[in-house]
Parts: sequence; C-alpha cells; structure tokens
Amino acid sequence: MSYEQVVDNFDREHLWHPYTSMLNPLPTYKVRSAEGCTLVLEDGTSLIDGMSSWWCAVHGYNHPVLNQAVEKQLHQMSHVMFGGLTHEPAIALGKRLLDICPPSMQHIFYADSGSVAVEVALKMAVQYQVAVGKPEKTNFVTIRSGYHGDTWNAMSVCDPVTGMHSLFGKSLPVRYFVPSPQTSYDGEWNEEDILPLRKLVIEHHQELAGLILEPVVQGAGGMRFYHPQYLVEAASLCKEYGLLLIFDEIATGFGRTGKLFAWEHAGVEPDIMCIGKAMTGGYMTFSAVLTNHTVAECISSHSPGAFMHGPTFMGNPLACAVACASIDLLLSYGWQEKVQRIERQLREELAPASQWPQVADVRVLGAIGVIEMQQPVDMAWMQRRFVEEGIWVRPFGKLVYIMPPFVISEAQLTSLTSGLLKIVREISLVE
Ligand code: PMP
Repeated sequence: MSYEQVVDNFDREHLWHPYTSMLNPLPTYKVRSAEGCTLVLEDGTSLIDGMSSWWCAVHGYNHPVLNQAVEKQLHQMSHVMFGGLTHEPAIALGKRLLDICPPSMQHIFYADSGSVAVEVALKMAVQYQVAVGKPEKTNFVTIRSGYHGDTWNAMSVCDPVTGMHSLFGKSLPVRYFVPSPQTSYDGEWNEEDILPLRKLVIEHHQELAGLILEPVVQGAGGMRFYHPQYLVEAASLCKEYGLLLIFDEIATGFGRTGKLFAWEHAGVEPDIMCIGKAMTGGYMTFSAVLTNHTVAECISSHSPGAFMHGPTFMGNPLACAVACASIDLLLSYGWQEKVQRIERQLREELAPASQWPQVADVRVLGAIGVIEMQQPVDMAWMQRRFVEEGIWVRPFGKLVYIMPPFVISEAQLTSLTSGLLKIVREISLVE
C-alpha cells in the first residue's frame, strides 16, 4: 500500500485538520469504516487502533449496543432545547453520573465539548467567588505541563511552553503557573513538591478563584503521571485559602487510569469536575461539569440567581442516550480487569525500549503507555511507518504513546506494541 492511495485531494486542498497547515499539510489517511479495534482505510488496509480516537472510543468502533442506543433515540427525537424542557435521556444519564462520580458531586451541567466544559468550570468558580462576597477572586492557578482544551480560557491554563501562549500570549488572560509535580505516580512522595503551589497560593490567594488541574495523569501537555498525594496537599491549600479545586477528568475519566475516575487514586473530591471524551464511548461530542451543593447553592442564591451559561446543544438527547449505553456497557463487562490486563501487557511489552539510546523514558499507567523520546519525532515519517506496520498511533513532540480501546485483544495489543517498538527503533537509523 502506498499512502498516496488513501490521500484525498479535496481534503488536502480544502479541509483544515487539527494543528496543521493548509499549504503544506501533514498527510491524512482516509478511513472507510471502523469496527472493534480496527480502522479500515479507503484501500482496504486495516490498522489496529492505538489511540481510541484521542481517549474516547473505549469500547472500540461500531459497537452494536451503542449503535442501537443512538438509533432508538433517533426515532424518538434527536434534539430539543434544554431551556425550559427536559427529557428522559438527560435524567437517566444524570442518575448514572451521580452513581459513579465523587459523592459530593450532586449538580450537573451538560456541555458540548471538553473545552466548553473547562470554560463552564472556570465561570462557575468566578460566579461562586462573586456570590460569597469575593469578587476580586477572578484568576486561576494551575500546574505546568497541563492541557485543558483550545478555547480561550482553556488555552490560558494549558502549559505555557507546549501550549499556545507564544502565539496568543498577549491576548490571553494571564494565569499563575507552578511547576508540575515532580514525584512520579509510584515514587516516594517528596513533601517539597507542594512548596511552589503553597508559596504561590499564600502570596496570591486574594485574587485566585480556583486551582485547575488534571488529576494524576497530565495528558496532551506532557503525558506525565504524578503522585496522588499532590492532590491531597493541593486540596487542603484550596480549602485553607478559599480557592475552588477543579479537576479536569476529561481524558482520565471512565477507567483510563485504572480507576473509574482519577480522583479515586487520592480519595480527594474536587469542588468542580469536568468529564467528557469517553462519556459517549466516542460516538459524539459531549461533556459535563459537576459540582457540589455548596457551589451550586451559593451561585443560585446570589444575583442574578442563575448560572450564566446555556449552550444550544446542552443535554442533547442523542448524546445523553449513547452516554447512558456507554456507561452501562463499561460497568457490565469488567472494565477494571481489562484495563489491568492492558497495563500488565504494556509494561511487559514496552519495557525493552527503555534500554535504547533514542528513548528518554517509558511509562505506563492503566491503559496508557508512553515512550518519551530524547528528540521530537518527525511526525509525517513516523505516522507513515506506523500505517505501513498496520497500526494507528499519532505521536506529538517527543511523545509516542498509545491508549487503546479497552476491548483490544491480547494478540492485537501485541501487534500494536511490536509495531510501535519496531518504528521507534528505526529512529536512530533515519536521523
Ligand atoms: N481537557 C483535557 C484534559 C483534554 O485532554 C481535552 C482534549 N484533549 C480537553 C480538555 C478538551 O476537550 P475537547 O477537545 O473535547 O474540547
């Protein structure tokens, strides 16, 4: 197969893809269909999926149960506005979320995407501070190497180096950043890790509405796994200095890290939590922002007596229906054993790469495997070599990583990891 066979000229000339150029775009591969853990390209080439379409497709593609949920809902109503109306899929999803999210998270705001959920969470924190008589608390602190989305405020709390601050810096709200936690997930907790945050919060708490971070696993900002004790310490600082603690569980949610949600690694409940991505099993864009009684009550009992956000597609019935089916499916098939099995296999099969000179680090947590290279990779070359090996893996910067669907078979995962290692090994040869 030559990749030219699966490149579409219209696409190349007219369709802008993520983070790429319209003049000299990175190649895109045209997908004809997807089934289970396999993507089928236009020319019939099958690729084993290592990405779950960016953390989403935990049950694989074209799943009969999820298809049926969408079809059934489609024949009742695909959408109605959520202003002044409600519906069974929204209520049914809400009940499921209360069952699986931290117990204090009792109020749910449905939104359209992960980035919008982050915008909503930040707005909630600011409205809360206004409501409790602290209108000067409008800013946010976060940890470096984070990623929270591409909209304006989400972008402002992404890592200032790997994010887009160099380009948009002057037009972005200026946030406070502290170093990301240095103690690794399974390392020995070093109390000094929390000192930069403590210092910053002590100095600036009068202007801080909240702290936002991805609990335990930092995704697109660096694929780092840090010690859960950081969350315990951060939560107590937030409490002491009147900051709301916001967990962005958009990537970590729904089992990916080995717990249903990453807050469970530390047992720390946030004040506000964002979820999305795998919530619909990757069927459609959807997210939710959850909060506790205190935040919901404060916002609601202060002028204007309402939370000021309301997207057009809020609570979309199709998305709610497929999210219900996806959560039921996840809870019905022993996701934890599946994720543990993937974790064991990833540890074993990726380990040889840690000895290679071109590799800086190999790390695994839950169903996430990361190979950090010494140098940024040539993405177009690497992507093509992966496709030639029959696997779908999309690296960025120095990071080559996989987060396969939970339903991947042992044999498929071995093909994925061996293809991955083969190409990583070639790197020293081409440079
Ligand atoms: N937060 C995190 C942790 C994410 O990983 C992402 C998406 N990669 C987002 C927010 C933004 O989500 P979306 O792309 O759906 O806007």
